[in-house]
Amino acid sequence: MSDSSNAVKPQIVFAVDLGGTHLRVALVDDTGNILRHLKQETPKGDSPGGILDALANAAREWHCDEQPVVAASIMVPGAVDCDKAVVVQAPNLPSLIKFPLKTELQRRLGWPVFLENDANAAAVGEMWLGAARGCNDVVSVTLGTGVGGGVILKGKLWRGSHGSAGEIGHTTVDPFSGLKCKCGNTGCLELFASATAIVRMARELGMKELTAEEVYETGRDGDERALSVFKRFGMYLGIGLANLMNLIDPQIIVITGGAVNGWDLFADEMYRQVRERAFRATAQQVKIARAECGDNAGLLGAARIALQDLQDLHD
Ligand SMILES: [Zn+2]
Repeated sequence: MSDSSNAVKPQIVFAVDLGGTHLRVALVDDTGNILRHLKQETPKGDSPGGILDALANAAREWHCDEQPVVAASIMVPGAVDCDKAVVVQAPNLPSLIKFPLKTELQRRLGWPVFLENDANAAAVGEMWLGAARGCNDVVSVTLGTGVGGGVILKGKLWRGSHGSAGEIGHTTVDPFSGLKCKCGNTGCLELFASATAIVRMARELGMKELTAEEVYETGRDGDERALSVFKRFGMYLGIGLANLMNLIDPQIIVITGGAVNGWDLFADEMYRQVRERAFRATAQQVKIARAECGDNAGLLGAARIALQDLQDLHD
């Protein structure tokens, strides 16, 4: 037998990406290795019981002496309150709103539990191991089913005074569009620069019912309507990014999420809008980069946040 008793064991976090469609669970160590990974459909229902059961089952199965877990870190598609204990807004997971998720999970799992907005977690993941490595002032914009954002200033997440900072998806880019957003506003960026928006804009141009990926494929094949969908996507995204640059002036804006796969079809128009609208010196210096951690940015970020918060508690 080798003597490994003196070796420093890695700290492992049970990281959860609690999406409106899919639930992903991973064991992540303190160097960002993903040791185990599981993906399933998010249990539906009026109460979060199914979600809690799914998490508890995975935790029970994975927890063992060789891989002792130090914390659970849950990223949710919505706003988390200032004590990071309760989800206060989550249009795609309404059963979680006001539910004491942190307390209930701590009771079920037996580990310290951290809650974080999914876009915030993605920003931290990209700063830790992705496109924003070495940067301190970082904004991430997640283009998924909706549009989220995470703001890091001087290396720290800026959550806002009420837990909802960085909601770039719900800033207004077209007040005259007549399109109503789930948040109650009209003309939000999310209505033009998300996977959902790609599907809707294609339908508006008379394309048959296609997924966002199919619209992209059609565009790659040269279909004019699909190309105009992505041009429109890029135009509104560029408007949003120009506003963001003038407001925050970060070192880098990292674009994450599934819809980033349409980059080659929307980036030209995005850059054009940024050049036209942001302060010239700012637009020339702020880097806009594609994410490097792919689907895992949020899981990695959630793990990193838990490890740092635990460290802060001990200091
Ligand atoms: Zn909105």
